Amino acid sequence: MRISDVRIYSVKGRHWPRFPWLFVEVETSNGLQGFGEALAYRSTGVRESLEVIGKKIIGRDPLEVELIWQELFREGFSMPAVSGIEIALMDILGKHLNTPVYNLLGGKCRSEVQVYVDGFFRGARYVEEEYAEKALAAVRDGFKALKMDVDEPIPSGKSVNRTLSPEDLKYTVRMVEAVRNAVGEGIQLAIDCHGAFDVNTALHLAKCLEPYNLMWIEDPVPQNNLEAMSFVSRNTNVPICTGELLNTRWEFRELFERRAARIIMPDVARTGGILELKKIASMAEIYYIPVAPHNMVGPIATIASVQVCASIPNLLLLEYQLGDVEWRDKILDKPIKVEGGKITVPSGPGLGVNLKKDVLENYLAT
Ligand SMILES: [Mg+2]
Repeated sequence: MRISDVRIYSVKGRHWPRFPWLFVEVETSNGLQGFGEALAYRSTGVRESLEVIGKKIIGRDPLEVELIWQELFREGFSMPAVSGIEIALMDILGKHLNTPVYNLLGGKCRSEVQVYVDGFFRGARYVEEEYAEKALAAVRDGFKALKMDVDEPIPSGKSVNRTLSPEDLKYTVRMVEAVRNAVGEGIQLAIDCHGAFDVNTALHLAKCLEPYNLMWIEDPVPQNNLEAMSFVSRNTNVPICTGELLNTRWEFRELFERRAARIIMPDVARTGGILELKKIASMAEIYYIPVAPHNMVGPIATIASVQVCASIPNLLLLEYQLGDVEWRDKILDKPIKVEGGKITVPSGPGLGVNLKKDVLENYLAT
């Protein structure tokens, strides 16, 4: 069996036209197809990198996943592109052996993966009543965990000096309080700061939010100084979560050694793919750090994440996007169902779902 073709599909997703969903299809000489997805978020050149890799791996044995990954990684290809290829190769490996991907990772630790909702607030203005109402609607739909952004909706959330005005700090606390009061203590709540603040502002915000029993504060300071992140993490009682922009075990090594976070959030479509996410989770396990994978793009990345989440002992929960484009499920042969805030791990070979290419054609980003 050899790799005979690699095709890339740019598809209009939730973030289009800022960036597309980027799907990868690897075909083999005996007619197997594997699907992957690469996270193109704020990265240019991912599609181009996929095209170069695609030409390079034609003729290779698709079952040599680790060897191909090592070559691509050492040659310096874009890690989102390498991730997309690796996910497709793992799909082929599972299909070839007629077993789900989680069985290639040591088998299931669970049959359902709990998710948290990002974007429950979509369509609401940044006022207490509207956020509270949207949060309650998500809870009524069965979700048990929610995440809200606190930097983007407020005037000083993107200030160049990385501080919050006293009014905006109070505004932020009022918004978190409104959501917490609406959903009650039985629902988990996280906030995302997108690396907006300096150390003092981050610590002050964390102190003000301590009464609201947050699951985590995400990226209170930028991710490019893990010593600063570590300082914040060590000086607040609220768990700090980071890692959505980090690539591979090598970048997570520094995070663990510096104790820069109490929860990590690697992204399967960016950090290096399925095996890399599993390896990063294993590193986290020895530090007793739970894993909450980042998942902001399309359905292939979601189901690849679900496969890894099924197999790792130290899973916290997986991100899930509410308010996505209506064709998100239509492009799959088996739509991903979320029931009671959980995704059932698919039992089919490989990823357990396939892209419907005839439907995909209707949503190409060209
Ligand atoms: Mg984030």
